[in-house]
Amino acid sequence: MNLLTNSVKYFRKLVSEPAQVLIVTHYNPDGDAIGSSLALYHYLKLIGHKVNVLIPNDIPSFLKWMPESEQMAIYQTDTEAGNKLITGAEVIFCMDFNSTSRVKYFSDQLASASATKILIDHHLQPEKEFDLIISVTEVSSTSELLFALLDQAGLAGNISTEMAECLFVGMMTDTGSYSYACNRPETFLITARLIDAGINVEKIHQLVYDTYSESRMRLLGHCLGRRLKVLPEYSTAYIWLTKADLEKYEYQPGDTEGVVNYALSIENISLAALFTERDDRIRLSLRSKGDFSVNELARNHFNGGGHRNAAGADSFDSMDVTLQKFETLLQQYKPALKHNMVNPNNREFLYE
Ligand code: 5GP
Ligand code: MN
Repeated sequence: MNLLTNSVKYFRKLVSEPAQVLIVTHYNPDGDAIGSSLALYHYLKLIGHKVNVLIPNDIPSFLKWMPESEQMAIYQTDTEAGNKLITGAEVIFCMDFNSTSRVKYFSDQLASASATKILIDHHLQPEKEFDLIISVTEVSSTSELLFALLDQAGLAGNISTEMAECLFVGMMTDTGSYSYACNRPETFLITARLIDAGINVEKIHQLVYDTYSESRMRLLGHCLGRRLKVLPEYSTAYIWLTKADLEKYEYQPGDTEGVVNYALSIENISLAALFTERDDRIRLSLRSKGDFSVNELARNHFNGGGHRNAAGADSFDSMDVTLQKFETLLQQYKPALKHNMVNPNNREFLYE
């Protein structure tokens, strides 16, 4: 991938000149949000910049080992400090999201901040609210994009092990451990450079994926045993979780991460959804295989968005009404869902 020369030049200029820098990322930050944000933090700190990271709400426990994650300010619990960071910033890097609304608690403050705002992101359809938009949707992750950007700016020679660990977490988690969104050689070439920088792939994998609490594992069992509905005629499977379910299994943030992928891994399923009941809304997590765009489904019907094969959204109806709406929509999408099905006897699909 060749980034626009002007973007690379502007990025190089920005990171080379001392400034009060703030890095922000999206609500409910995931591995790539934190990976790309902390990686940039490590880089800027190393070259002597004053830099802070501000996140809307806390990170899940499986990311708490990440180097210097404890340095990040959390807006939800420290609003005053968060506001000071936003107003005091000269440059704000916006990592892994495509609209100021995605930071949720400080959307208005971010939108009206006087700082120069740089978007570094891989989601579809970025809003035009930023001074510089570096948006590449074919990369695996924002972490990969950040590495490519530094590389093309001639700044990737000295990547610290800590920074490489952060970038690797972003790439590993956004590709489901290199199982999707990773069909470009660059993704693996960059991964090789991170290994060169000293990361331990096996240990990082363990820290992120082998850290289930017993209750999280049992919640997964409940999802698969009692909350999974398969609709073969629509190549669709979904899981729904009520507040009572979450309470019973002592839900902690991050505990439903990856649950939707189990529904997608059923044979002949090309659309999967997870509906989780929250205090004020139903949270939707959508996944698909092939050409079927959950980004469009989320955008057109639930005010959400994301990528073609992974998107999120919210519904402000009850669980029953939301599930009914979803099932009714499936009728409309039936031809597209059917068309999308993979015939295991047909090798052609490998080359589509
Ligand atoms: P998840 O299902 O893991 O919450 O989200 C899947 C993808 O969609 C992520 O890349 C996430 O950033 C994006 N996404 C999640 N929720 C929303 C949303 O409400 N709006 C938009 N535009 N993107 C979302
Ligand atoms: Mn991402």
